[in-house]
Amino acid sequence: MAEKVHNQGKGHKPKAAADKSGRKPAGALSTRLHAAHPKQQQQGKLQKAQGKERKAGRQQRFTEKSAASAETVKTGDRIVVTIKRIGINGEGVGYYRRKAVFIEGALPNEVVKAKVVKVEPGYLNAEITEIEKRSPQRQDPPCPVYGICGGCQLQHMTYESQLQAKEEIIRESFQRYAKLQELPLRPILGMDNPWGYRNKAQLQAGYDGEDIVAGLYAAGSHRLIDISGCPIQHPVVNHAIEQVKEALEELRIPVYNERTREGAIRTIVARVGQATGHVQLTLITATDRLPDSRRLVEEIRKRLPKVITIAHNIHKGKSPLVFGNKTVVLWGEERLEESLGDVRFALSPRAFFQLNPEQTVKLYNAVQEAAGLSGSELVVDAYCGTGTIGLWLAPFAHEVRGIELIPEAVLDARDNAKSTGVDNARFYEGRAEQLLPEWVGRGIRPDVVVVDPPRTGCERPLLDAIIKAKPQRLVYVSCNPATLAKDCQVLLGGGYRIEWVQPVDMFPQTAHVECCSLLVRKD
Ligand code: SAH
Repeated sequence: MAEKVHNQGKGHKPKAAADKSGRKPAGALSTRLHAAHPKQQQQGKLQKAQGKERKAGRQQRFTEKSAASAETVKTGDRIVVTIKRIGINGEGVGYYRRKAVFIEGALPNEVVKAKVVKVEPGYLNAEITEIEKRSPQRQDPPCPVYGICGGCQLQHMTYESQLQAKEEIIRESFQRYAKLQELPLRPILGMDNPWGYRNKAQLQAGYDGEDIVAGLYAAGSHRLIDISGCPIQHPVVNHAIEQVKEALEELRIPVYNERTREGAIRTIVARVGQATGHVQLTLITATDRLPDSRRLVEEIRKRLPKVITIAHNIHKGKSPLVFGNKTVVLWGEERLEESLGDVRFALSPRAFFQLNPEQTVKLYNAVQEAAGLSGSELVVDAYCGTGTIGLWLAPFAHEVRGIELIPEAVLDARDNAKSTGVDNARFYEGRAEQLLPEWVGRGIRPDVVVVDPPRTGCERPLLDAIIKAKPQRLVYVSCNPATLAKDCQVLLGGGYRIEWVQPVDMFPQTAHVECCSLLVRKD
């Protein structure tokens, strides 16, 4: 019961409540910021705690408060907790007097002393003050801004143990939300090199004194953390961002200041095509004009021989979206050529594309195996984005129908179908939970339905329509094991059984885990 609030609790920051893109990366930080940020101080404490841990086993004196029952625990109390597992947001989870305690930075099997920072009816949040018993899985996080930038949550674990923890998160979710004790879980597919995998960076530009920095705002602050050397980012992307910063500095092109509303450059976006090594650059300004754009183009081309597009996007408003509506290509190609397996894409600067192509191929291969196509099937690809899964499956199916909410993504999906020569896939704009029930109402009966919803999972009318249409196979691609398990519970009650669940590590060093699950009809 206690942990039901885990995903919803106000105090327990739902960091993983992000989009499918795997969120933001981590990276390197300027020294001034390094010293100042409270989250950094917390990491400092953790390091101290790690030093102190040599004293493990020594008898410690605690305040009387620590012996209090969970009901009387107050903020500031010191408690000792044995960590049982990694939670869905990457934190250590243990129990204090049968109440769940979430402790950032703590690892399974560790015994930690911690200070209670939040008391909720169902759980506690606490901060490590000392590690009494250290896990052999603990390692020094390689990234200098780990714990500040917030993009990664598991860099303090060896990669092997990150993979184990992700399998455990999935098992735990199915136990809790689908009441399934025995899950046919396949071993997670990890990466041989779990670094440098992200093919795109979208970094805010700002100043640190005289220097231009490119990074992310630290959680809940206006402090820009420079992450232009982020170790999970592709090195070509890091290099491109660095060169753009230097070019802007050299030409004295001003960066936008949110407070004074002066300056121009707001965001630098760099994407590398894994097939070609080409770089697509987009400079997003808060102004109509990109100052000195001709010289900037020349300078960037000189510094980045692999650049294929230099685009300018205008985003004047205050909306939290990164891109504005108007994009102009200043120099080069309209689109970046990319491929996944045999499927080819032509990506406009704003088009969504999977961030970890190597792992995406493994995921889509699992989807293809799950779909078990013979060439005669009608496949529905619900939540199809730019059509990637549908296009992957189209050569093996009779017909593919994709459903996607965002109109631009639907247009991209149609373009992608053209550029890869697929003529048996149609893409429809709309809500999966409206369109599929409509189709089923009109007598359309898909043989295979693929769903790949956002973190919130599928809407109930969609699940009901699937149960009614009875496709032989349902392939559920999910980036959130909790909503996956909840939806599976509904589907189990609606005549499906789970054949297997294949986890894929799309975002090493973070707590995110992606699954491809095959559900088949029981009758
Ligand atoms: N399958 C794609 C993208 C999945 S991301 C891929 O593998 O690349 C999830 C997609 O669902 C997003 O493109 C989002 O715009 C879309 N979406 C969100 N809610 C939706 C809804 N209710 N109906 C249809 N699409 C939706």
